[in-house]
Amino acid sequence: MHVDIFTLFPGMFQGPFNESMLKRARERGLLSIDLHNIRDATTDKHHIVDDYPYGGGVGMVMKPEPIFAAVEAVYQGGPIILMTPQGHLFNQQVARSLAQEERITLLCGHYEGIDERVCQHLVTDQLSIGDYVLTGGELAAMVVVDAVSRLIAGVLTEGSTDEESHSANLLEYPQYTRPPEFCGWRVPDVLLSGHHEQIARWRRKEALRRTRERRPDLFAKLDLSGKLDVKLLQELEDG
Ligand code: SAH
Repeated sequence: MHVDIFTLFPGMFQGPFNESMLKRARERGLLSIDLHNIRDATTDKHHIVDDYPYGGGVGMVMKPEPIFAAVEAVYQGGPIILMTPQGHLFNQQVARSLAQEERITLLCGHYEGIDERVCQHLVTDQLSIGDYVLTGGELAAMVVVDAVSRLIAGVLTEGSTDEESHSANLLEYPQYTRPPEFCGWRVPDVLLSGHHEQIARWRRKEALRRTRERRPDLFAKLDLSGKLDVKLLQELEDG
């Protein structure tokens, strides 16, 4: 996958994109990322990228011309996604569908936001990473790139994203590693038993318990008509 990111602050991406999974994905040629400074697309002497809002009010608004020029200079297809608190909520399902794309373009706002003509006539999608306001779209774009790139075939071990939280509206079961006892707190016996069927049953039950407690909104979307789930839910009810 190729990602083009348009921003006024390309330096913000240096840490996250050069460590861990993203670094490896790039080194292995599964992911390439180009950072474009919108300021480089200005044509005026002072490289102005923002201006006062028409109609008055506090803050500055990013001007349309440099953004159109910057994107049009390199655009080769795929969705052009504006990061904005007014967009559709980004989630694992959106991440999965973006992971199928060959190219994506992410546009980061700053200050009070971006001239509406960019939203209407340049971008194809608008995404929000949550119901809060960030100072800029850079952190949001990093979240999207991170979540999407770990779903690209070959980036992680096959199967490792199948059972995790949000893959099927279910939060993941609790995980433990060595030692078996720490400060007197023991790992549940079933996990040490080597009994695969019992382990799978325990994990399913704990995933259901967690999802019901922490995310009733997700729990309500689950199809729990299967024989095992009916039984596990009854056990949870009975305490
Ligand atoms: N005045 C705007 C907010 C501007 S915040 C409004 O009320 O809607 C400045 C920039 O940060 C935005 O242009 C956007 O690119 C980014 N941003 C802020 N919050 C975000 C969020 N929750 N998700 C994605 N991008 C966000």
